[in-house]
Amino acid sequence: PARTDVAYFGAGPAPLPTPVLEKGAAAFVNYENSGLGLAEISHRSSTATRILDETKKALISLLNIPDNYEILFLHGGGSGEFSAVVFNMVAVWVEKRRRRAQKEFGDNDEAILLRVKEELNYSLRLDYLVTGSWSLKASQEAAQLLEPLGRNFVNVALDAREANGGKFGTIPPEDTWSLTPADANAGCGSAFVYYCDNETVDGVEFPSFPKSLQPQAGEDERLVVADMSSNFLSRQVDISRFALVFCGAQKNIGITDLTLAIVRKDLLTTMPSPSFLHKVGVWSPPTILNWSVISKNNSLYNTMPIFSIWIAGEVMRRLLASYGDSKVAGQEAVSNAKAETIYRVLDANPEVYQPVNHKSVRSRMNICFRVKDAATEEEFLEGAETRMLQGLKGHRSVGGIRASNYNAVPMANVQKLAEYLSDFARANSS
Ligand code: PLP
Repeated sequence: PARTDVAYFGAGPAPLPTPVLEKGAAAFVNYENSGLGLAEISHRSSTATRILDETKKALISLLNIPDNYEILFLHGGGSGEFSAVVFNMVAVWVEKRRRRAQKEFGDNDEAILLRVKEELNYSLRLDYLVTGSWSLKASQEAAQLLEPLGRNFVNVALDAREANGGKFGTIPPEDTWSLTPADANAGCGSAFVYYCDNETVDGVEFPSFPKSLQPQAGEDERLVVADMSSNFLSRQVDISRFALVFCGAQKNIGITDLTLAIVRKDLLTTMPSPSFLHKVGVWSPPTILNWSVISKNNSLYNTMPIFSIWIAGEVMRRLLASYGDSKVAGQEAVSNAKAETIYRVLDANPEVYQPVNHKSVRSRMNICFRVKDAATEEEFLEGAETRMLQGLKGHRSVGGIRASNYNAVPMANVQKLAEYLSDFARANSS
Protein backbone atom coordinates (compact mmCIF):
# COMPACT_ATOMS: atom_id res chain seq x y z
CA PRO A 1 0.00 0.00 0.00
CA ALA A 2 0.97 3.64 -0.39
CA ARG A 3 1.63 5.78 2.68
CA THR A 4 -1.60 7.62 2.08
CA ASP A 5 -3.55 4.34 2.23
CA VAL A 6 -2.43 3.56 5.77
CA ALA A 7 -3.69 5.23 8.92
CA TYR A 8 -1.16 4.32 11.60
CA PHE A 9 -1.95 4.65 15.31
CA GLY A 10 1.12 2.93 16.79
CA ALA A 11 2.43 4.06 20.17
CA GLY A 12 5.95 4.72 19.02
CA PRO A 13 7.96 5.02 16.93
CA ALA A 14 5.21 7.16 15.54
CA PRO A 15 4.44 8.47 12.08
CA LEU A 16 6.16 11.61 10.84
CA PRO A 17 4.68 14.22 8.53
CA THR A 18 5.18 12.91 4.99
CA PRO A 19 6.80 16.15 3.71
CA VAL A 20 9.42 15.88 6.47
CA LEU A 21 10.17 12.31 5.46
CA GLU A 22 10.42 13.21 1.80
CA LYS A 23 12.76 16.10 2.49
CA GLY A 24 14.62 13.86 4.94
CA ALA A 25 15.06 11.11 2.35
CA ALA A 26 16.79 13.61 0.06
CA ALA A 27 18.91 15.00 2.91
CA PHE A 28 19.89 11.44 3.84
CA VAL A 29 21.41 10.98 0.39
CA ASN A 30 22.79 14.41 -0.44
CA TYR A 31 22.33 17.28 1.99
CA GLU A 32 22.07 20.68 0.32
CA ASN A 33 24.06 19.47 -2.66
CA SER A 34 27.12 18.90 -0.51
CA GLY A 35 27.69 15.44 -1.98
CA LEU A 36 27.15 13.81 1.43
CA GLY A 37 24.09 12.74 3.35
CA LEU A 38 23.29 13.91 6.88
CA ALA A 39 24.06 10.55 8.45
CA GLU A 40 27.55 10.73 6.95
CA ILE A 41 28.82 14.13 8.04
CA SER A 42 30.99 14.73 11.08
CA HIS A 43 29.27 15.86 14.25
CA ARG A 44 32.23 18.27 14.56
CA SER A 45 31.49 19.98 11.25
CA SER A 46 30.12 23.50 10.99
CA THR A 47 27.03 22.03 9.26
CA ALA A 48 26.36 19.89 12.33
CA THR A 49 26.69 22.86 14.65
CA ARG A 50 24.36 24.92 12.50
CA ILE A 51 21.76 22.12 12.48
CA LEU A 52 22.00 21.87 16.24
CA ASP A 53 21.63 25.61 16.70
CA GLU A 54 18.68 25.84 14.33
CA THR A 55 16.87 22.99 16.06
CA LYS A 56 17.41 24.64 19.44
CA LYS A 57 16.20 27.95 18.08
CA ALA A 58 12.99 26.40 16.76
CA LEU A 59 12.31 24.70 20.09
CA ILE A 60 12.99 27.85 22.10
CA SER A 61 10.56 29.71 19.91
CA LEU A 62 7.87 27.00 19.99
CA LEU A 63 7.84 26.67 23.77
CA ASN A 64 9.03 30.16 24.75
CA ILE A 65 11.87 28.57 26.66
CA PRO A 66 13.39 31.10 29.08
CA ASP A 67 17.06 32.09 28.87
CA ASN A 68 17.98 30.27 32.04
CA TYR A 69 17.32 26.90 30.41
CA GLU A 70 19.61 24.79 28.29
CA ILE A 71 18.53 22.34 25.61
CA LEU A 72 20.49 19.09 25.52
CA PHE A 73 20.53 16.44 22.80
CA LEU A 74 21.27 13.09 24.34
CA HIS A 75 21.62 9.36 23.79
CA GLY A 76 19.90 6.65 25.73
CA GLY A 77 16.20 7.35 25.21
CA GLY A 78 13.72 8.12 27.91
CA SER A 79 15.08 5.12 29.80
CA GLY A 80 18.57 6.62 29.84
CA GLU A 81 17.14 9.69 31.53
CA PHE A 82 15.53 7.53 34.24
CA SER A 83 19.12 6.91 35.38
CA ALA A 84 20.53 10.33 34.45
CA VAL A 85 17.92 12.07 36.60
CA VAL A 86 19.07 10.12 39.64
CA PHE A 87 22.80 10.62 39.09
CA ASN A 88 22.58 14.32 38.30
CA MET A 89 19.92 15.39 40.73
CA VAL A 90 21.48 13.53 43.67
CA ALA A 91 24.79 15.23 42.81
CA VAL A 92 23.01 18.62 42.82
CA TRP A 93 21.46 17.76 46.17
CA VAL A 94 24.85 16.85 47.61
CA GLU A 95 26.43 20.05 46.28
CA LYS A 96 23.71 22.18 47.85
CA ARG A 97 24.36 20.48 51.18
CA ARG A 98 28.11 20.88 50.75
CA ARG A 99 27.79 24.61 50.10
CA ARG A 100 25.56 25.04 53.12
CA ALA A 101 27.96 23.10 55.35
CA GLN A 102 30.86 25.17 53.99
CA LYS A 103 29.13 28.33 55.17
CA GLU A 104 29.03 26.86 58.66
CA PHE A 105 32.40 25.12 58.81
CA GLY A 106 34.58 27.25 56.51
CA ASP A 107 37.61 25.29 55.38
CA ASN A 108 37.12 22.42 57.82
CA ASP A 109 36.75 19.81 55.09
CA GLU A 110 36.30 16.97 57.52
CA ALA A 111 33.37 18.64 59.27
CA ILE A 112 31.80 19.45 55.90
CA LEU A 113 32.13 15.86 54.74
CA LEU A 114 30.71 14.49 57.96
CA ARG A 115 27.73 16.82 57.82
CA VAL A 116 26.92 15.99 54.20
CA LYS A 117 27.23 12.25 54.87
CA GLU A 118 24.93 12.57 57.83
CA GLU A 119 22.37 14.52 55.83
CA LEU A 120 22.57 12.02 53.01
CA ASN A 121 21.83 9.19 55.39
CA TYR A 122 18.95 10.89 57.14
CA SER A 123 17.27 13.25 54.76
CA LEU A 124 17.90 12.43 51.10
CA ARG A 125 14.60 11.62 49.39
CA LEU A 126 13.56 11.20 45.79
CA ASP A 127 9.83 11.74 45.33
CA TYR A 128 8.01 9.86 42.57
CA LEU A 129 4.40 10.15 41.47
CA VAL A 130 3.65 6.74 40.04
CA THR A 131 0.69 6.99 37.67
CA GLY A 132 1.58 4.33 35.10
CA SER A 133 4.15 1.88 33.80
CA TRP A 134 6.78 4.47 32.83
CA SER A 135 6.89 6.40 36.08
CA LEU A 136 6.88 3.03 37.84
CA LYS A 137 9.93 1.99 35.83
CA ALA A 138 11.67 5.28 36.55
CA SER A 139 11.07 4.89 40.30
CA GLN A 140 12.35 1.31 40.20
CA GLU A 141 15.48 2.44 38.38
CA ALA A 142 16.12 5.04 41.08
CA ALA A 143 15.63 2.47 43.83
CA GLN A 144 18.01 -0.01 42.27
CA LEU A 145 20.68 2.62 41.53
CA LEU A 146 20.67 3.82 45.12
CA GLU A 147 20.24 0.47 46.83
CA PRO A 148 23.98 0.00 47.50
CA LEU A 149 23.85 3.16 49.62
CA GLY A 150 22.07 1.14 52.24
CA ARG A 151 18.52 2.36 52.54
CA ASN A 152 15.47 3.12 50.44
CA PHE A 153 15.73 6.71 49.28
CA VAL A 154 12.74 6.58 46.97
CA ASN A 155 9.53 8.02 48.32
CA VAL A 156 6.62 6.88 46.19
CA ALA A 157 4.49 9.90 47.01
CA LEU A 158 1.66 8.47 44.98
CA ASP A 159 0.96 4.99 43.68
CA ALA A 160 -2.15 5.55 41.62
CA ARG A 161 -2.95 1.82 41.58
CA GLU A 162 -3.85 1.85 45.26
CA ALA A 163 -6.98 3.90 44.69
CA ASN A 164 -8.05 1.91 41.64
CA GLY A 165 -8.17 -1.76 42.54
CA GLY A 166 -4.49 -2.36 41.75
CA LYS A 167 -4.62 -0.87 38.26
CA PHE A 168 -3.44 2.40 36.79
CA GLY A 169 -6.15 4.62 35.37
CA THR A 170 -6.73 7.49 37.78
CA ILE A 171 -4.76 10.26 39.43
CA PRO A 172 -6.04 10.50 43.00
CA PRO A 173 -6.53 13.98 44.54
CA GLU A 174 -3.35 15.86 45.39
CA ASP A 175 -4.19 16.04 49.10
CA THR A 176 -3.70 12.27 49.25
CA TRP A 177 -0.13 12.42 47.92
CA SER A 178 2.67 12.07 50.45
CA LEU A 179 5.27 14.48 49.09
CA THR A 180 8.37 15.07 51.16
CA PRO A 181 7.84 18.47 52.81
CA ALA A 182 9.75 21.25 51.07
CA ASP A 183 12.37 22.24 53.60
CA ALA A 184 13.01 25.97 53.54
CA ASN A 185 16.39 25.60 55.29
CA ALA A 186 17.77 22.93 53.10
CA GLY A 187 17.24 24.39 49.66
CA CYS A 188 14.47 21.86 48.90
CA GLY A 189 13.36 18.85 50.89
CA SER A 190 13.74 16.13 48.35
CA ALA A 191 16.27 15.98 45.55
CA PHE A 192 13.35 16.23 43.11
CA VAL A 193 9.75 15.33 42.47
CA TYR A 194 9.33 13.18 39.38
CA TYR A 195 6.28 12.54 37.29
CA CYS A 196 5.38 11.29 33.83
CA ASP A 197 3.09 13.81 32.14
CA ASN A 198 1.57 11.22 29.82
CA GLU A 199 1.68 7.51 30.51
CA THR A 200 1.93 5.93 27.08
CA VAL A 201 1.05 2.36 28.04
CA ASP A 202 -1.81 3.17 30.39
CA GLY A 203 -3.26 6.23 28.66
CA VAL A 204 -3.17 8.47 31.73
CA GLU A 205 -2.28 12.13 31.24
CA PHE A 206 -1.96 14.85 33.85
CA PRO A 207 -4.69 17.37 32.97
CA SER A 208 -2.36 20.22 34.00
CA PHE A 209 0.66 20.98 36.14
CA PRO A 210 -0.04 19.64 39.66
CA LYS A 211 -0.80 22.53 42.04
CA SER A 212 0.99 20.98 44.98
CA LEU A 213 4.29 21.00 43.11
CA GLN A 214 4.20 24.78 42.98
CA PRO A 215 6.08 26.33 45.89
CA GLN A 216 3.73 27.08 48.78
CA ALA A 217 4.13 30.16 50.96
CA GLY A 218 7.19 29.84 53.19
CA GLU A 219 8.48 26.78 51.38
CA ASP A 220 11.49 26.38 49.24
CA GLU A 221 11.00 25.45 45.63
CA ARG A 222 10.58 21.87 44.57
CA LEU A 223 12.75 20.71 41.75
CA VAL A 224 10.25 19.15 39.39
CA VAL A 225 11.32 16.60 36.77
CA ALA A 226 8.86 15.53 34.08
CA ASP A 227 8.99 12.81 31.47
CA MET A 228 7.11 14.20 28.47
CA SER A 229 8.18 11.51 26.02
CA SER A 230 4.73 10.94 24.63
CA ASN A 231 3.00 14.33 24.83
CA PHE A 232 5.82 16.79 24.19
CA LEU A 233 4.81 19.58 21.78
CA SER A 234 1.16 18.54 21.94
CA ARG A 235 0.25 21.29 24.40
CA GLN A 236 1.67 24.40 25.97
CA VAL A 237 4.08 23.95 28.83
CA ASP A 238 5.42 26.58 31.20
CA ILE A 239 9.01 25.40 31.23
CA SER A 240 9.90 27.75 34.10
CA ARG A 241 8.09 25.41 36.48
CA PHE A 242 10.52 22.59 35.84
CA ALA A 243 14.05 21.69 36.77
CA LEU A 244 14.09 19.28 33.87
CA VAL A 245 11.79 18.12 31.11
CA PHE A 246 12.92 15.22 28.97
CA CYS A 247 11.61 13.07 26.16
CA GLY A 248 12.62 10.51 23.61
CA ALA A 249 12.15 11.95 20.13
CA GLN A 250 10.28 9.05 18.58
CA LYS A 251 6.71 10.16 19.28
CA ASN A 252 6.06 13.81 18.54
CA ILE A 253 9.47 15.11 17.54
CA GLY A 254 11.28 12.80 15.21
CA ILE A 255 12.93 9.44 14.95
CA THR A 256 14.31 6.95 17.43
CA ASP A 257 17.84 7.41 18.81
CA LEU A 258 17.54 11.00 19.90
CA THR A 259 16.65 12.16 23.39
CA LEU A 260 15.95 15.72 24.32
CA ALA A 261 16.23 17.46 27.67
CA ILE A 262 15.47 21.01 28.76
CA VAL A 263 17.34 21.69 31.97
CA ARG A 264 17.62 24.72 34.24
CA LYS A 265 21.10 26.13 33.83
CA ASP A 266 21.85 26.66 37.51
CA LEU A 267 21.64 22.90 38.04
CA LEU A 268 24.46 22.43 35.57
CA THR A 269 26.74 24.54 37.73
CA THR A 270 25.63 23.01 41.02
CA MET A 271 27.81 19.96 40.58
CA PRO A 272 30.25 18.76 43.23
CA SER A 273 33.64 17.43 42.23
CA PRO A 274 33.66 13.70 41.52
CA SER A 275 36.10 13.24 44.40
CA PHE A 276 33.73 14.89 46.89
CA LEU A 277 30.89 12.69 45.68
CA HIS A 278 33.07 9.62 46.07
CA LYS A 279 34.04 10.61 49.62
CA VAL A 280 30.37 11.00 50.47
CA GLY A 281 29.81 7.54 49.02
CA VAL A 282 27.86 8.48 45.87
CA TRP A 283 28.83 7.78 42.28
CA SER A 284 29.55 10.76 40.09
CA PRO A 285 27.32 10.71 37.01
CA PRO A 286 28.69 8.53 34.19
CA THR A 287 30.06 11.01 31.65
CA ILE A 288 27.57 10.16 28.94
CA LEU A 289 24.69 10.85 31.37
CA ASN A 290 26.28 13.93 32.92
CA TRP A 291 24.18 16.91 31.83
CA SER A 292 26.88 19.35 32.86
CA VAL A 293 29.50 17.70 30.64
CA ILE A 294 27.06 17.37 27.74
CA SER A 295 26.12 21.02 28.05
CA LYS A 296 29.75 22.22 28.18
CA ASN A 297 30.26 20.35 24.90
CA ASN A 298 27.15 21.80 23.25
CA SER A 299 25.68 18.27 23.13
CA LEU A 300 28.63 17.10 21.03
CA TYR A 301 30.60 15.31 23.71
CA ASN A 302 30.48 12.22 21.51
CA THR A 303 29.06 11.27 18.13
CA MET A 304 25.49 12.51 17.88
CA PRO A 305 22.88 11.52 15.26
CA ILE A 306 22.87 14.78 13.30
CA PHE A 307 20.28 13.42 10.89
CA SER A 308 17.86 12.87 13.79
CA ILE A 309 18.50 16.35 15.14
CA TRP A 310 17.79 17.79 11.71
CA ILE A 311 14.54 15.81 11.48
CA ALA A 312 13.50 17.17 14.89
CA GLY A 313 14.30 20.67 13.66
CA GLU A 314 12.19 20.15 10.53
CA VAL A 315 9.23 18.93 12.60
CA MET A 316 9.54 21.96 14.85
CA ARG A 317 9.87 24.41 11.98
CA ARG A 318 6.78 22.86 10.43
CA LEU A 319 4.81 23.47 13.61
CA LEU A 320 6.02 27.06 13.68
CA ALA A 321 5.04 27.52 10.05
CA SER A 322 1.64 25.85 10.55
CA TYR A 323 0.56 27.66 13.66
CA GLY A 324 2.36 30.99 13.40
CA ASP A 325 2.23 33.06 16.56
CA SER A 326 -0.03 30.62 18.38
CA LYS A 327 2.85 28.10 18.23
CA VAL A 328 2.19 25.02 20.37
CA ALA A 329 -1.25 26.36 21.35
CA GLY A 330 -2.24 25.74 17.74
CA GLN A 331 -1.12 22.13 17.93
CA GLU A 332 -2.84 21.78 21.29
CA ALA A 333 -6.18 22.75 19.79
CA VAL A 334 -5.73 20.18 17.01
CA SER A 335 -4.60 17.45 19.43
CA ASN A 336 -7.61 18.10 21.64
CA ALA A 337 -10.01 18.05 18.71
CA LYS A 338 -8.60 14.75 17.42
CA ALA A 339 -8.81 13.11 20.84
CA GLU A 340 -12.36 14.36 21.36
CA THR A 341 -13.40 12.93 18.01
CA ILE A 342 -12.39 9.44 19.14
CA TYR A 343 -13.62 9.67 22.73
CA ARG A 344 -16.97 10.99 21.52
CA VAL A 345 -17.67 7.79 19.56
CA LEU A 346 -16.45 5.61 22.41
CA ASP A 347 -18.67 7.41 24.92
CA ALA A 348 -21.64 7.30 22.56
CA ASN A 349 -21.46 3.51 22.43
CA PRO A 350 -21.10 2.38 26.05
CA GLU A 351 -22.62 -1.03 25.32
CA VAL A 352 -19.75 -1.81 22.92
CA TYR A 353 -16.73 0.18 24.16
CA GLN A 354 -15.24 0.91 27.52
CA PRO A 355 -12.58 3.63 27.75
CA VAL A 356 -10.31 2.29 30.48
CA ASN A 357 -9.45 5.47 32.31
CA HIS A 358 -11.13 8.02 34.48
CA LYS A 359 -12.47 10.88 32.32
CA SER A 360 -10.45 13.59 34.05
CA VAL A 361 -7.11 11.93 33.26
CA ARG A 362 -7.78 10.40 29.86
CA SER A 363 -4.78 10.82 27.63
CA ARG A 364 -5.21 12.86 24.47
CA MET A 365 -2.23 11.01 23.00
CA ASN A 366 -2.85 7.33 23.83
CA ILE A 367 -6.51 6.49 23.82
CA CYS A 368 -6.98 3.20 25.62
CA PHE A 369 -10.23 1.31 25.57
CA ARG A 370 -11.66 -2.17 25.56
CA VAL A 371 -14.19 -3.77 23.33
CA LYS A 372 -16.63 -4.83 26.03
CA ASP A 373 -17.29 -8.23 24.59
CA ALA A 374 -13.71 -9.50 24.86
CA ALA A 375 -14.44 -12.24 22.34
CA THR A 376 -14.87 -9.62 19.62
CA GLU A 377 -11.68 -7.65 20.39
CA GLU A 378 -9.69 -9.71 17.88
CA GLU A 379 -12.45 -9.21 15.36
CA PHE A 380 -12.28 -5.47 15.99
CA LEU A 381 -8.55 -5.45 15.25
CA GLU A 382 -8.95 -7.58 12.13
CA GLY A 383 -11.71 -5.32 10.85
CA ALA A 384 -9.48 -2.30 11.46
CA GLU A 385 -6.67 -3.92 9.48
CA THR A 386 -8.90 -4.48 6.50
CA ARG A 387 -9.54 -0.71 6.48
CA MET A 388 -5.79 -0.08 6.80
CA LEU A 389 -6.22 1.24 10.34
CA GLN A 390 -3.01 -0.08 11.89
CA GLY A 391 -1.12 -0.18 15.18
CA LEU A 392 -4.23 -0.33 17.37
CA LYS A 393 -3.38 -3.30 19.57
CA GLY A 394 -2.88 -2.32 23.22
CA HIS A 395 0.46 -2.74 24.98
CA ARG A 396 1.21 -6.39 25.71
CA SER A 397 1.16 -5.72 29.46
CA VAL A 398 -2.39 -4.35 29.55
CA GLY A 399 -4.10 -5.65 26.41
CA GLY A 400 -7.16 -3.97 24.93
CA ILE A 401 -6.99 -1.33 22.23
CA ARG A 402 -4.78 1.74 22.13
CA ALA A 403 -5.10 4.44 19.48
CA SER A 404 -2.10 6.72 19.62
CA ASN A 405 -2.92 10.18 18.45
CA TYR A 406 0.43 11.89 18.03
CA ASN A 407 0.97 15.19 16.26
CA ALA A 408 1.63 13.69 12.84
CA VAL A 409 -1.61 11.67 12.81
CA PRO A 410 -3.86 13.79 10.58
CA MET A 411 -7.47 14.57 11.45
CA ALA A 412 -8.49 12.71 8.29
CA ASN A 413 -7.06 9.47 9.74
CA VAL A 414 -8.74 10.11 13.06
CA GLN A 415 -12.02 10.52 11.22
CA LYS A 416 -11.47 7.21 9.42
CA LEU A 417 -11.00 5.57 12.81
CA ALA A 418 -14.08 7.28 14.25
CA GLU A 419 -16.10 6.04 11.30
CA TYR A 420 -14.89 2.50 11.83
CA LEU A 421 -15.65 2.73 15.55
CA SER A 422 -19.22 3.78 14.72
CA ASP A 423 -19.67 1.07 12.10
CA PHE A 424 -18.31 -1.64 14.39
CA ALA A 425 -20.54 -0.44 17.22
CA ARG A 426 -23.59 -0.50 14.99
CA ALA A 427 -22.81 -4.03 13.85
CA ASN A 428 -22.19 -5.26 17.38
CA SER A 429 -24.90 -3.65 19.48
CA SER A 430 -28.03 -5.60 20.19
N1 PLP B 1 8.77 7.38 28.95
C1 PLP B 1 7.64 7.28 28.24
C2 PLP B 1 6.47 8.09 28.62
C3 PLP B 1 7.58 6.42 27.13
O1 PLP B 1 6.47 6.32 26.40
C4 PLP B 1 8.72 5.66 26.79
C5 PLP B 1 8.71 4.75 25.62
O2 PLP B 1 7.73 4.51 25.00
C6 PLP B 1 9.86 5.80 27.59
C7 PLP B 1 9.86 6.66 28.63
C8 PLP B 1 11.09 5.01 27.28
O3 PLP B 1 11.66 5.57 26.17
P1 PLP B 1 12.87 4.87 25.37
O4 PLP B 1 12.31 3.68 24.69
O5 PLP B 1 13.25 5.99 24.45
O6 PLP B 1 13.92 4.56 26.37
